[in-house]
Amino acid sequence: MTSSARQHSTEPWLELLGNHPPAVAQHLQRVVQENSSALADLFYQQMLADPGASSFLNHDKVKTQLHGSLQRWMINLVSVADDADLQAVIAQQVLVGDIHARIDVPVHLVLRGARYLKDGLADRLIADERIDTAERIQATGLMAGLIDLAMEVMSQAYSTSHDRNSRASEAYRLFAVAQNLSTEKERQRAALLDWENRVMFELAVGVDADQLPLISASEFGLWFRHKGAHAFTGTEETDQILAGMQRIDEVLLPLFAYTDEAERMHRVKHLRELHEQAHAIAYHLERLFEQNSELEAGRDVLTQLLNRKFLPTVLAKEVGYARKSSTTFALLAIDVDHFKNLNDRFGHEAGDMVLQQLAVLLSNNSRGGDYLFRLGGEEFLLILVDITPESAVQVAEKLRKQVAAETFRLPNEQSVKATISIGLSMHDGHPDYQRAMRRADDALYQAKREGRNRVVMAGD
Ligand code: GH3
Ligand code: MG
Ligand code: MG
Repeated sequence: MTSSARQHSTEPWLELLGNHPPAVAQHLQRVVQENSSALADLFYQQMLADPGASSFLNHDKVKTQLHGSLQRWMINLVSVADDADLQAVIAQQVLVGDIHARIDVPVHLVLRGARYLKDGLADRLIADERIDTAERIQATGLMAGLIDLAMEVMSQAYSTSHDRNSRASEAYRLFAVAQNLSTEKERQRAALLDWENRVMFELAVGVDADQLPLISASEFGLWFRHKGAHAFTGTEETDQILAGMQRIDEVLLPLFAYTDEAERMHRVKHLRELHEQAHAIAYHLERLFEQNSELEAGRDVLTQLLNRKFLPTVLAKEVGYARKSSTTFALLAIDVDHFKNLNDRFGHEAGDMVLQQLAVLLSNNSRGGDYLFRLGGEEFLLILVDITPESAVQVAEKLRKQVAAETFRLPNEQSVKATISIGLSMHDGHPDYQRAMRRADDALYQAKREGRNRVVMAGD
């Protein structure tokens, strides 16, 4: 998680709390505690009546969990007594913001919910005659201020998280489009060289500096700015290429605008600098493709399966698809049994060979629409799309048996047997896909505990 509670200042919170007498804060806390359940009911009724919000809320699990967590959220928010409480409250807002981003709840719906709560609480605070009118007004102000601060932190966490998710989605889209990255690499390398040749030619024939072709507007520059930089987002090389292109266009090319003969003496030096900068870009590009063509572009280097980078994108997509089409999908958490022993007996290289053969076996036994990920080590995740629980169990059983029947080839004509354990969970309509992931994981651990080489279906 890139957004952390520590990034958020406690100052406005302390100021708000400092401006209200302890008696007012205590009263607010008491009123919230007494009314939290009724407020959660009210919130739920109002939000469910909202067509935009209901699709996120009409799941049974959401209903039961939200009721409890909303109450805890309100009570924690108004019960800050010391710095540790405050840190915990801020951390909670960050967490909620991340969840909202993951399930893609629009921000305006979150703010609307906050408004319902504020209104409901204000009514109750003003009507409560246990304290005098001036204090009631103060308590209402404190409540509104706390909810506003919470929303601020939550929204910031939301947008950080959301940006990250959409960047990964963008990269995924690109990855899906650029089927053949090695062709793309050759093409862009040629385009870069082509730009450099054009500059050299123009300079040779004596064109004015302001007529020289900009790298950012070249075929390569356009590709990199619009696609490459997105596909390879967040890498050092990407930043270096962008900075290098900027330096060429803004610093190096204008150097060729000589106003007198003395400056012209530096021409060779400027040409060399230009060439070196273009060369550096080519080098970074090469490295980007090398490191990322498999790994960062989405495929695991060892097995060629999808790596976990795109897991959130794929799962969010499938949750949305399931919601629209009233279908469901299954998650199979797959882990090789006693893999450490195998490594210890035959060596790491042998272990790698088993993983490769296992990856082939798993993908040969899944359908074109399914997704197979290597999550890391000897752990895999298979997403079976559009499937019933019964068929998912059958697929899982078939995979388990096939693996158990397989003889895995090792170096030096050796071979070995291996088994897998599988935890299976069905997407149950809950918008947060991490729940189904956790349930699959729990089922996998149960399969391990019960003796391995088996499939366990997750409970609720
Ligand atoms: P269990 O049945 O409980 O899953 O036991 P296990 O030994 O498979 O599980 P554990 O998690 O203890 O060990 C996993 C081992 O996988 C540890 C590590 O040495 C090995 N491993 C992880 N990644 C790789 C890899 O990329 N290649 C190879 N050869 N081994 C790996
Ligand atoms: Mg493991
Ligand atoms: Mg294992």
